[in-house]
Amino acid sequence: MNGALFLLTVNFLIAQLFCVFFLIITKRSRIPAAGRWFAAAFAVASLAAPFEVAIRYADFDRFASFGAFSTLLCALLMIRAGLGRLYAVPSNITVTACVIGVSMALNLLIYDLPRGTFAHSLGYQLPFIIAELLAAAVIYRSGRRSAADITLMAFLLLTAAHFASKIYFAVRFSGGSDAQSYLASTYALVSQSLGAVLVVSTGLALLAVIVVEIMDEAKANSLIDPLSGLFNRRGFDERVTQILARPISAYPHCVVLCDLDHFKSVNDTYGHAAGDRVIVAFSEMIRQQAPPEAVCARFGGEEFAVFLPSTGEPTGYLFAQGLRNGFSSLAFAGLPQAVRLSASFGLCEMTGIDDALGETIDRADAALYCAKKSGRNRVNRAESNSATKTAELQAQA
Ligand code: GH3
Ligand code: MG
Ligand code: MG
Repeated sequence: MNGALFLLTVNFLIAQLFCVFFLIITKRSRIPAAGRWFAAAFAVASLAAPFEVAIRYADFDRFASFGAFSTLLCALLMIRAGLGRLYAVPSNITVTACVIGVSMALNLLIYDLPRGTFAHSLGYQLPFIIAELLAAAVIYRSGRRSAADITLMAFLLLTAAHFASKIYFAVRFSGGSDAQSYLASTYALVSQSLGAVLVVSTGLALLAVIVVEIMDEAKANSLIDPLSGLFNRRGFDERVTQILARPISAYPHCVVLCDLDHFKSVNDTYGHAAGDRVIVAFSEMIRQQAPPEAVCARFGGEEFAVFLPSTGEPTGYLFAQGLRNGFSSLAFAGLPQAVRLSASFGLCEMTGIDDALGETIDRADAALYCAKKSGRNRVNRAESNSATKTAELQAQA
């Protein structure tokens, strides 16, 4: 087995392995169609290798050469289709059909041209260059620029450059006067080695992009409460911590805690599913009434929290009163039309950098507890931290 043949075998096996990897990993992806396109692309690409072997050992040279070209071209366009799914940049069917049709016709036309000429090399490589550029353009147009996205785009562009360089080198080193002598040449060995490296790199970069997408999705899910669609406690803490890390705001922040009143009796009287609908309705109301920069969360059960950045206590108080009013007049699907519920609120302003988030939440919780004790369906303000500290200092004096 000579070097070029050995490399073709390795290429075949690598492409098959990538096909299997994509099929395995795509099951976890939010966009399984993308992974399936990539798996299909590598399966089709692997067929280019047997065609190239057929060029060497069989007599149907023209057919095998056309097969090797077509399988590789279709594989590249399948990668473009998969990227279109992954990056939400759909393929244009007409453009794809034109690229395939014109490229295949061109390939048949140039077959009889002498190899090693500029016309033959250009006609052979140009469709591959266009397919690689179309794939890279998907990432560029998506505007996504994570490390994985940029790496993948770089490998697609490098592969396009590799195909372009083949035009020059085929002419410069005259790759062989026919398809068979081309395969036996040193140029074919170098070209296929480089091609193999780029195929593996592009395959790994594609896998990396899908893995990053799966991890991002899993992380986002771990921060969101599935019933309400609001942040859960972890998501709330993470998002608020990011806001607090920004340069100090000229205005204080405000935390509103909320607990639905007598919620247990809703479950007991109308069932757990009806209780769930109440939670969903309240969450929807929070989402609608909260300012866009607010961080809204369901802490668990029928307890909610809203972090209002750069919002003083007076505005926070009005916001909480708005929620209280809105909720007390809301009717719920699955509950008798006349049934109205209420909620209690605890409010605390975060005055300065001294205020830790946990402390502010604790004080808002204490205010909420007072609202419950003093009759429910009300908004209660916590003592500000500075007032608490002054009281503590006075007590120590
Ligand atoms: P209070 O006015 O003092 O807050 O009384 P409460 O009945 O609202 O409070 P309590 O803590 O006694 O009961 C909370 C209830 O919330 C108990 C639990 O069954 C219910 N609950 C917790 N999580 C869920 C949920 O996801 N769905 C539903 N439907 N109910 C839930
Ligand atoms: Mg509760
Ligand atoms: Mg409650």
